[in-house]
Amino acid sequence: MVDFTRDFTMTIDGAGVPGDATIDVLNPATEGLVAKAPDCTRTQLDDAVAAARAAFPKWRATPLAERRAAVAKIGEVIGANMGAMSRLFTLEQGRPLAMTGPEVGGAAFWAQTVAQQELPVTVNEETPERRSETRHVPLGVVGAIVPWNFPLMIGIWKICGALLTGNTLVIKPSPFTPLTMLKLGEAMREHLPPGVFNVVSGGDDLGPWMTAHPDIDKISFTGSTATGKRVMESAASTLKRVTLELGGNDAAIVLPDVDVETVAEPLFWAAFANSGQVCTAAKRIYVHADIYDELARALVAVAQRVPMGDGMAEGNMLGPIQNRQQFDRVKTLIADARANGERFLTGGEPAEGDGYFIPVTIVDNPPEDSRTVQEEAFGPFVPLLKYADLDEAIARANASDYGLAGSVWSNDMEAAVAVAERLETGTVWINETLYVMPWTPFAGHKQSGIGVEHGIDGLLEFTAPQTITARKPIIAENAEAAPAAETAE
Ligand code: NAD
Repeated sequence: MVDFTRDFTMTIDGAGVPGDATIDVLNPATEGLVAKAPDCTRTQLDDAVAAARAAFPKWRATPLAERRAAVAKIGEVIGANMGAMSRLFTLEQGRPLAMTGPEVGGAAFWAQTVAQQELPVTVNEETPERRSETRHVPLGVVGAIVPWNFPLMIGIWKICGALLTGNTLVIKPSPFTPLTMLKLGEAMREHLPPGVFNVVSGGDDLGPWMTAHPDIDKISFTGSTATGKRVMESAASTLKRVTLELGGNDAAIVLPDVDVETVAEPLFWAAFANSGQVCTAAKRIYVHADIYDELARALVAVAQRVPMGDGMAEGNMLGPIQNRQQFDRVKTLIADARANGERFLTGGEPAEGDGYFIPVTIVDNPPEDSRTVQEEAFGPFVPLLKYADLDEAIARANASDYGLAGSVWSNDMEAAVAVAERLETGTVWINETLYVMPWTPFAGHKQSGIGVEHGIDGLLEFTAPQTITARKPIIAENAEAAPAAETAE
């Protein structure tokens, strides 16, 4: 029985490993200590990678049905520990308990679903002389690096895809939110062969050690664009494969035909779920001038009735910013907006007292070239922007180095699809956001990423194509040829 409240150890070669040193994990709602997590040394990382390397040949040769069962087991274990895992998650991440369920329950569902996915085999040629087919083989040891905003779910995306396709794995959660993943590692020890699934936690050196490690074959990374560039640079030295899911500054375009009262609530959550700490949150909301004032009032009304506070307290639906560094960054953006005379429709003042709380802040039509519009805040700080001409709104939405996702809001599906097709992003939602499923490929365009996660395209990223081309048996051909030669004599 795993105790989700204490004794946090890494999982290396199937065993629990404490750190020589530890890192403090703080509750962002109180700034109090939740627990101490191991600070992985270079030698311990080498041990984890060596264990993953040693386990790879056998895991790769394990029948697919057994690997499917192992991935499904991850879902089962999460499902069986939902309550304890959700509480630990809320303590370290800050998201209210009421909102944690979808991530923990969603992670269980995700594992169960990926367990059933199928890799394609392509027959390139089938003739009397030759058969050529391409199948997809595992890469070896995958290093997974995860951010703090969805520490369990983003980890699950990488774990399930890597293990199903026959790779072994070393995963590193963020130093701000390592605890839930450390406990998942512990809970899985009795269910997986040693070395197949390793969990390490540590400080700022650990990620760079992984990306440069000569015995890791692929890095699956989710985090900021700035870090993603460093990951790619470091991975180049050993030509590691990389999948990079990076930052975004997603635009929502609201057409004038929407029913404002109906749309306000889902639009609010599109921007402010997880207190805006979502890579695909609506971070710039473009609203047609005809409905701008009405929608502004409706969004402010939603903001005022959604309670924010300590996630462990009943009723709260929004929590704090996850860490001090990010809290300071959002405060800097608010201060910049204020200094430039931008007007707040609601919010604008960080809360007093303990915890990293910033009330929902909506900025009233700031200039397009302001930091408020151009930068990814990654907090509850969002500009509402007025447009009069749809082409102009699309051009403004596309004028970004990011290309992660976007959304269109309209009752006219044809018009909405026409706008969606013109957005330069990997995902476009219509009348919703954040719908990410194991079967929906997700790929950042421009500086929002390289590669794909989810769907069969996502699974393929954990593999390399292998083409086997067979000239059909030559002996039989010679046997036929021989009598012909005799006859000729
Ligand atoms: P971050 O880039 O600071 O850190 C992400 C992870 O990388 C952490 O585990 C961190 O310890 C590690 N890391 C830091 N420096 C490293 C280095 N030099 N080499 C290797 N690893 C290193 O990101 P964050 O602040 O944890 O997360 C927020 C960012 O992540 C936002 O920009 C957000 O948009 C993005 N994000 C993207 C997606 C997506 O799917 N595209 C999903 C969630 C978050």
